[in-house]
This record gives sequence, C-alpha cells and structure tokens, in this order.
Amino acid sequence: MIMKACKNCRLVVYTGEKVCPKCGGELSEKLSGMIIVLEPERSEIAKLAEINVVGTYAIKVK
Ligand SMILES: [Zn+2]
Repeated sequence: MIMKACKNCRLVVYTGEKVCPKCGGELSEKLSGMIIVLEPERSEIAKLAEINVVGTYAIKVK
C-alpha cells in the first residue's frame, strides 16, 4: 500500500484506492509535509489548516 493524500481535504491514507474514504476526493502520491491532529478543537495548527476531524493530514498535495 502507498501513502496518499486527498487533494480536496488533505487527509493522509494508506490505500490502494484512488478516492478519499472521507470525502471522495482524488488521491495523490505527491504530498509534502504532514501534521497529525489529535485534538482539532485545541490545536492552533488545525485551526490554521481548517481541519476539524482527527487524523493525519498533508500540508501540501500536488
Ligand atoms: Zn478527502
């Protein structure tokens, strides 16, 4: 399995699928940087990145 990130919501997943399990967006292998959000309500980074669901996210997805 390959690590991919969603172009739409930036969720990082290990999958052989081509679409995001969360939003159905297109997945890309070209991602750079990752942030792990454990407490979206309390995380300043999550607020800046507009993330409100626990998970691992790519900072940039091409
Ligand atoms: Zn997505």
